[in-house]
Amino acid sequence: MLLVVGGLAVAGLLSAVSTVRTRQAFRAERERALGEARDEVRGQVGAMADEILALTDRVALAEDPEAARLFARATAAYQQAQDHLERSTRAAELEDVADELDHARWELAAAQALVDGAELPPEPDAARACFFDPTHGAGTFAAEIDTPAGRRQVRVCSYCAAKLRAGTAPEPRMLSVGGRRVPAAKAPRAYGGGGMDWLEEFDVVLDGVRRPYGWRR
Ligand SMILES: [Zn+2]
Repeated sequence: MLLVVGGLAVAGLLSAVSTVRTRQAFRAERERALGEARDEVRGQVGAMADEILALTDRVALAEDPEAARLFARATAAYQQAQDHLERSTRAAELEDVADELDHARWELAAAQALVDGAELPPEPDAARACFFDPTHGAGTFAAEIDTPAGRRQVRVCSYCAAKLRAGTAPEPRMLSVGGRRVPAAKAPRAYGGGGMDWLEEFDVVLDGVRRPYGWRR
């Protein structure tokens, strides 16, 4: 009898130890994923800093009040994103940072268009970065992806739109997620990705022209 009770006590202890271990492993994994996501978003923030720097003098010289206003808003949104990024402790906060970056990208694209004397890109319902690579900036062109799960609206930058029109497949930005390299569109939103982890083979439809696309080409 004593042996049975003793055995049960040991079993209980072992299971308690294993629960603690599992919880610790879970916490460590969450921390690792958060660090990885933060590194990627930090890279995207850095790319935006370069873009802002490149545009600063041109906006000042242009003396266009609307361009200056959009540029100031983009810069403020960028600073806020950077601030939130460094204070983030949860994946949900990084998702907010990704949204802030998307807004700032559109404002930068609009300021740039005014400075270039080009047409202002239409403000999308939901500001979205380029589907292929968020560091390309705002997705100023509407496109669609046709997937086995149905059609979906995406946005692409002018560079990727030109590539698609020329019949070339834009290279996706590859992010490190859990030690695996995944295209930005498939990466979680907290990594500044598109959050479409199910996406494999699909067609891209731009200006009514359909082109097959897949990640493994
Ligand atoms: Zn692009």
